[in-house]
Amino acid sequence: MKPSKVPLCLLPTPIHRLDGLSEELGLELWIKRDDLTGFALGGNKGRKLEYMIADALAKNAEVVVTCGAVQSNFVRQLAAACSRYGIVCAAAVMDLPFEDAPPEGPRLNPEIGNPQLDRLLGADLRHFPDGPWELLYEHAEAIAKEYESKRKRVYRVPIGGSSPLGAYAFYEAGCELQAQTDPFDWIVAASSSGSTQTGLAYAFRGTETKVLGVCSDPEPEIVEDFAELGEGLAKILDRPPLEAADFRLTTEFVGPGYGVPSEAGNAAIARLAQTDGVFLDPIYSGKAFAALVVLAERGDLTGRVLFWHTGGLPTLFAT
Ligand SMILES: *Cc1c(COP(=O)(O)O)cnc(C)c1O
Repeated sequence: MKPSKVPLCLLPTPIHRLDGLSEELGLELWIKRDDLTGFALGGNKGRKLEYMIADALAKNAEVVVTCGAVQSNFVRQLAAACSRYGIVCAAAVMDLPFEDAPPEGPRLNPEIGNPQLDRLLGADLRHFPDGPWELLYEHAEAIAKEYESKRKRVYRVPIGGSSPLGAYAFYEAGCELQAQTDPFDWIVAASSSGSTQTGLAYAFRGTETKVLGVCSDPEPEIVEDFAELGEGLAKILDRPPLEAADFRLTTEFVGPGYGVPSEAGNAAIARLAQTDGVFLDPIYSGKAFAALVVLAERGDLTGRVLFWHTGGLPTLFAT
């Protein structure tokens, strides 16, 4: 059965050709503007939330609890969706969560950008210093238990909105693109918690279009999580699941680490601004665009290429 959703985004998001960079790279380069969802300053989380908020409302949730980095674009969009539907949004946020060690390099300002908007939206934000991902998940669970001890009905939202419903939203986004224009040879998008890439991979399975995820996290084994998420999506779609080997991703462009801007990403942001007047963000879309440029220059990306702009613009002001 098709999952139900609430309206948050202005869909379909527009697509257009990037004339300046198409010329410089010798590609037919297009962009899908999910930075222009018209919801809470845009970004790829709005689509996922249409399904997750519908699910939370169906379960009579009073509070949603999630977690992320302090500059999480997901927490901002979740908090806005909660405001709209009268749900309390609580989030554990860390300066920077990490796998093995905190990344080195210039930090985003933890006061400006997304956290500023989260506060404006009235979110219950609990701010922690750097720590391992596992500890961040524990903090979120403690907040959920705290609300439950006050007899509130809590809906737990996985990081980045990467539940099977979130992946379904991006499966549908892939279908939205197919209805907008002729097929592409490549789709390139930033990839982190995985529901964007997983949804797109399912939408384009068995077609000529190759979906490349440019990881914002340095762990290649993240693909196992994508495959697992895909199993949940396969159940919703009633199709056989994809294997980890069916996902195409690269961790080459992470730079210093998750949540830390990279030199190549910053250069790509400036380049696209100067060729086409389009802004990218320093943590996800800028690094993904840096990958697109390098891979095109190496001759690994050819033909009709679509860059899926996943948003993230508030962090541009925190650099
Ligand atoms: C969350 C996010 C991503 C990654 O999407 P996932 O579905 O978590 O992989 C990419 N770009 C931006 C701007 C994001 O906020």
